[in-house]
Amino acid sequence: MPRTKEQIREYMRAWHIAHREERNARTRAYKTAHREQVLEYDRKYQASLRDAALALAPSGVRCTYCGYDTDRRALQFDHINGNGYLARGKSANKLYHKIIKEGWPADLQILCANCNQIKKIENCEYGPR
Ligand SMILES: [Zn+2]
Repeated sequence: MPRTKEQIREYMRAWHIAHREERNARTRAYKTAHREQVLEYDRKYQASLRDAALALAPSGVRCTYCGYDTDRRALQFDHINGNGYLARGKSANKLYHKIIKEGWPADLQILCANCNQIKKIENCEYGPR
């Protein structure tokens, strides 16, 4: 039997690897059976991550161009150099985690949806299609 913290950690790691398929099937079944609950949890989790990342913006939680701050949902994370699709990858959550862990990057700003769209069009900032 494992005795030390490190032995217990190693035992758990080995158990998780050995039971991977079983665990994945159980997780899938749970998520299917509790679909609405899981989606609601995911939405709340993502909103809290986004809020935590927004709160770290050095210019405050408002549009850098026009100062809009009425509804947080209309505020967007804008990569100043227009390469957001590269930095973000597949998941916005990754960006939020990175901001929370490493601080606000120098090449990021908050824009409202209107200003971000206008900037995107004026600078031809489109990712690969
Ligand atoms: Zn704006």
